Amino acid sequence: MGTRDRSAASKPAWRKATQLVHGGTLRSEFGETSEALFLTQGFTYDTAEQAAARFKGDADGFIYSRFSNPTIAMFEERMCALEGAEAARATATGMAAVTASLLCQVSAGDHVVAATALFGSCRYVVETLLPRFGVSSTLVDGTDLSAWQAAMRPETKALFLESPTNPTLDVLDIEAIADIAHAGGAKLVVDNVFATPLWQSPLSLGADVVVYSATKHIDGQGRCLGGVVLSDAEWINENLHNFMRQTGPSISPFNAWVLLKALETLPVRVAQQTANAARIADALAEHPFVRRVLYPGRADHPQHAIAKRQMDKGSTMVAFEVEGGRRGAFDVSNALQIVRISNNLGDAKSLITHPATTTHQRLSDEDRATLGITEGLLRLSAGLEDADDLVADLSEALDRARRAPTIVSVA
Ligand SMILES: *Cc1c(COP(=O)(O)O)cnc(C)c1O
Repeated sequence: MGTRDRSAASKPAWRKATQLVHGGTLRSEFGETSEALFLTQGFTYDTAEQAAARFKGDADGFIYSRFSNPTIAMFEERMCALEGAEAARATATGMAAVTASLLCQVSAGDHVVAATALFGSCRYVVETLLPRFGVSSTLVDGTDLSAWQAAMRPETKALFLESPTNPTLDVLDIEAIADIAHAGGAKLVVDNVFATPLWQSPLSLGADVVVYSATKHIDGQGRCLGGVVLSDAEWINENLHNFMRQTGPSISPFNAWVLLKALETLPVRVAQQTANAARIADALAEHPFVRRVLYPGRADHPQHAIAKRQMDKGSTMVAFEVEGGRRGAFDVSNALQIVRISNNLGDAKSLITHPATTTHQRLSDEDRATLGITEGLLRLSAGLEDADDLVADLSEALDRARRAPTIVSVA
């Protein structure tokens, strides 16, 4: 059985990049350099007494991989070190993390408040799934603090938001919304995918729980799905631990191992992708076929002041609106040579999507209009390609779309 590498696991003073290479390491008796993949469902015991003691909680040690596993534990500990959290649980997908983080703390009769601008499946969980089990929910304009305040009820148990939002990259004031939650005796859960754990630390801004789709930047190479929920040890133990153990949204040790190894390169990748995104945002803003660019790192972003306060850097994501509505957006997407059309994000490959017809097609026209998801809006996830190549690819595609006959007739 592996032993915790104390020299690595117990140095909280280490900075993030160091923690991401060494944090949480659990070496086996063989002293392997690279973290071991414990692809096992269960564990054997030396004696029946030892099994009994572990089940009773009197002895440390693994029991069954639905509850915990050495590779998954390494991933969870490394995430804790990165996030500055006391405890974490890894899940099979980002949606399993979001769903578990909410379901584990509510009961029939409770109430949840969330921002309208949410990842599509998160919105389904809050708007459709929770009410089926007697948990009511209110969706508010996340940028309007008085709307959060007005939605609070005595039975409000949790507030849920993502910032920057998908796909329009609105930046919500996490500190102020955490204050509203706490004044009402509720917990704030933040989906921190778009900001990445490098550029925004919701727990230090007052949030109680942070969730990730590890499928995105944490993997960063488009290979496997995963998720994480992080909070203080008390919240995890009292709410999430038993929920996960009994309902089983656990991650595969194989996927946890991929994500664990990916954490080693996370800062390097995210820094480069962010630099590429900032370059792209500035180049797009100069192009005549682009109506507006939404990038939290730019001074013309509607909530740039909040972004500066709560994020260390912009993001790896850029949203922009082109001329010519849907036809213009499709023409730009179809003319790209390097940037691939895909609804995923955070990948080493630059990806573009048309939210109105993909990730947000389920919403009504009215809801899309409220959220600013116009027919000409595109969402770009900056990858690791050379920035000059990316800017050239986008400029050429925009030039071609601008010259396209369909657009001329629209104009
Ligand atoms: C992708 C994503 C999710 C869901 O994650 P999966 O790993 O695909 O289940 C949740 N929230 C946000 C903001 C996302 O981008």
